[in-house]
Amino acid sequence: MAPQLAGLRLMSLKVDQDALLSLFLSSTEKVDGHVLANYNVSGPRYTSYPTVPLWSESFDSEAFETSLKQGLQEEATDQRPLSLYVHLPFCEERCLFCSCNTVITKQREHADRYLDYLEKEISLVAPHVATKKRSVVQLHWGGGTPTYHTPEQLERVFGMLKQRFYFDEQAEISLEVDPRVTTPQHLKSLHRLGFNRISLGLQDTEKKVQESVNRVQSIEQTYALIEESRQLGFSGINLDLIYGLPYQTLHSFEKTLDAVLELNPDRLALYNFAFVPWLSPWQNQMPVEAMPSGEEKFTIFKMAIIKLLEAGYYYIGMDHFAKPTDELSHALQEGTLHRNFMGYTTRAGNADLLGFGLSAISAQEGAFSQNIKKLSRYEAMLDGGQLPTWRGYTLTPDDKLRRKLIVSLLCQGQLIFSDFTGLLAGESFANYFATELRQLKQAEDSGLVSLSPEGLKLLPLGRMFARNVAMVFDAHLAKQRAEAGEKPLFSKTL
Ligand code: SF4
Repeated sequence: MAPQLAGLRLMSLKVDQDALLSLFLSSTEKVDGHVLANYNVSGPRYTSYPTVPLWSESFDSEAFETSLKQGLQEEATDQRPLSLYVHLPFCEERCLFCSCNTVITKQREHADRYLDYLEKEISLVAPHVATKKRSVVQLHWGGGTPTYHTPEQLERVFGMLKQRFYFDEQAEISLEVDPRVTTPQHLKSLHRLGFNRISLGLQDTEKKVQESVNRVQSIEQTYALIEESRQLGFSGINLDLIYGLPYQTLHSFEKTLDAVLELNPDRLALYNFAFVPWLSPWQNQMPVEAMPSGEEKFTIFKMAIIKLLEAGYYYIGMDHFAKPTDELSHALQEGTLHRNFMGYTTRAGNADLLGFGLSAISAQEGAFSQNIKKLSRYEAMLDGGQLPTWRGYTLTPDDKLRRKLIVSLLCQGQLIFSDFTGLLAGESFANYFATELRQLKQAEDSGLVSLSPEGLKLLPLGRMFARNVAMVFDAHLAKQRAEAGEKPLFSKTL
C-alpha cells in the first residue's frame, strides 16, 4: 500500500467503526431497505476466486503433482511461505446445522487408521514443497472435531508435520475445539506443542435452540474451556455464533450475546445460518418451520452488530469481529489482513496453502485443488501411491487479477487501481473494468462505495456488503447462475 494511504487507513479505522455504528443505530428506511434488498440474494463467500463450483475433476492427482513441482522450479514461488491445513473429520454426533465434511462415529479405532493415511499423504506432498526457504507461517486444524482424537494422537499428527516442514518461530498455530469433548489434558498437550490460537463453536446459548439442532453445550462448559485456555497462554480466542437457527428470536439472541460478552472472547464470528438441505439433507430434521424469516434474521443481525460495536469490538469484515487489541484489528488497520480458506489471517498473506486429509483444499499461486471427500476412496488412492485429489482449477491471468482485486476488497475495503498495473497487460484499469465500473455507479448512488479516478473505497455500509461489491468483479458468476438454472449454487445471504 502507498505510504500516504496506509496513514489514511490508520487514522480512519476508528472513524469507520463509529460511522458503521451510527449507520445501524440510525435505522432509516434507506439503510434497512438497502440491506434487505442487497442481502437477500445468493452469493459466494469468496474463500477462493474462482469459486469451488467451477473446479473440475479433469484437474486430477497428476495435475496437482505437476503444479506442486512447478512451484519448486519458479524462483518467486520457491520463496513463498506455506500455510498448512489438516482436516480431522471425526465427530461423535452430528449437529444438524453443520455442513462440514464429517465422519460421525463413536468407534474411535477408526481414528488411528485415518492418521496412518494422513501420514502417507503428507509424505507424498512434502518432498515437492518442504524446503528451508519455505517456512510454515500458519497451521490450522479443522474438521470434524480435532479434539475427538486423544492428546497422544494429536501429538502424532503434529509430529508428522514437524518432521517434514520448517516452521517459522512466529507461526500462527490454531485449531477448532468442541468444548463438549475437549479436556484440560488436550489443552495442555496442544499448548506444549506450540498451538497459540483456539476457536470454539458455540452457536447459541439457549437450550431450546441447542436442542433443536442437536448440539447441547452448557455455558459452563464453554466458560471452563476459555478460562483454561487463557491460563495456559492461548491468545486470539475465537467464538463462533450462528443466527437463523430454529427458535431464535431477537430477544433470545440478545440473551446469547449478553452471555457471550461475559465470556470476553478476543474474536467473534457471527455466521448467517446456511440452510442448504440440497447439500446437507439432515438439516431437514430441524424444525424448519421454527426458523426465523429473512426479516426476523435481519433484525437479529442488526441488533447483534450494534451490540458488538457498542461493546467495543471492531468489525473486521464479512462475519468477523475482534477486540481493538487483537492482531486481526491491527492487521486491518495496517492493511496487512488477508483471507484464505480458513478465514481472515494476519500471517499467511502470500503463502501457498496445502491441505491434508478428507476434502482438504490446497491453494497455490496458479492452481486450486481439493481432496476426495469419501473416506474409502481417500484410502484407496493413497494405497495406490496416488495423491487423493478430487478436483481443481488452473487459474488464468484474468482469474489472478480478479482474485487479487476481490481479496483487496474483502480485506482492505478498497482498490487502489495502480496496484493492479502489472496484471493488466498494458491496459488501464478503467478500460479493463469499464463494464464493472459502470455497474458500480448504482452502488455509489446507494452510498456503498466511493469512486475516484485513482481507486474505489468501500463506505461503512459498503463494508457490510463487500461480497456484493465483489460479485460485480466475478467474471464467472453470470454463467454459473445461468447453467445452474433453478438449482441454487450458493446459500442466501439473508
Ligand atoms: S459443528 Fe463441529 S461437532 Fe458438530 S457436526 Fe459439525 S464439525 Fe462436528
